[in-house]
Amino acid sequence: RTGTPLLAVEGLEGWYGESHVLHGVTFDVREGEVVTLLGRNGAGKTTTLKAIMGVLGQRSGSVKFDGQEMIGLPSRAIARAGIAICPEERGIFSSLSVEENLLLPPQVKPGGMTVEQIYELFPNLKERLSSPGTKLSGGEQQMLAIGRILRTGSKMLLLDEPTEGLAPVIVKQIGRTIAKLKKEGFTIVLVEQNFHFASTVADRHYVVEQGEVIDTFTSEELEQNLDKLRAYLGV
Ligand code: ATP
Repeated sequence: RTGTPLLAVEGLEGWYGESHVLHGVTFDVREGEVVTLLGRNGAGKTTTLKAIMGVLGQRSGSVKFDGQEMIGLPSRAIARAGIAICPEERGIFSSLSVEENLLLPPQVKPGGMTVEQIYELFPNLKERLSSPGTKLSGGEQQMLAIGRILRTGSKMLLLDEPTEGLAPVIVKQIGRTIAKLKKEGFTIVLVEQNFHFASTVADRHYVVEQGEVIDTFTSEELEQNLDKLRAYLGV
């Protein structure tokens, strides 16, 4: 692989209070790539996303985004630099409508998508624009959560388990969404447990175990190493 990665994480360490959880996570993502972090529950995938985003109290190592060091910057500056996170819990406000939820975040960079552009990408949301957040299906909530971060203008998206708890048909829909975003030029880091899904949507994969990256595969290699992967993931 050639070229400077858009995101280069090197020796990332992270703590929750006294508890040392990340022990030197290293991986990189080129512009326009979709990359997954795979691993068991508690391996440190979510914590890695939090550390990149600057929302983990204590962290060290290096996170270079577009050549600029993010470690040491406050989370707001990291968001302004152009990284956005869609957390596992989605953060949909149930008392607000779809459109009100979409209008919530500040547009942190010029070039963020308009609500109309987001509806073009997710026609289901347009049909539901006045529905309260709680009336949405799990898949629609996930699209709303992703749609909301597209308004920020960030080209680098961190998606934490977007398929969790969703029915297979909705998982397919999320897969098409991610493919659309890739086509639009977004660069994506995806935390996943479902490696069949991961192999269909992503270019490359990193296996996280006990706060470290212990292996890496392209999607083609992943298909040829399913036994190894099952052992890593304990499935
Ligand atoms: P999951 O799929 O369960 O989210 P994960 O790979 O994302 O798995 P993390 O959530 O990053 O794992 O958790 C890594 C480790 O950090 C685990 O041992 C977990 O118990 C611990 N941990 C997570 N959140 C906290 C917290 N807020 N305070 C203390 N420890 C935490």
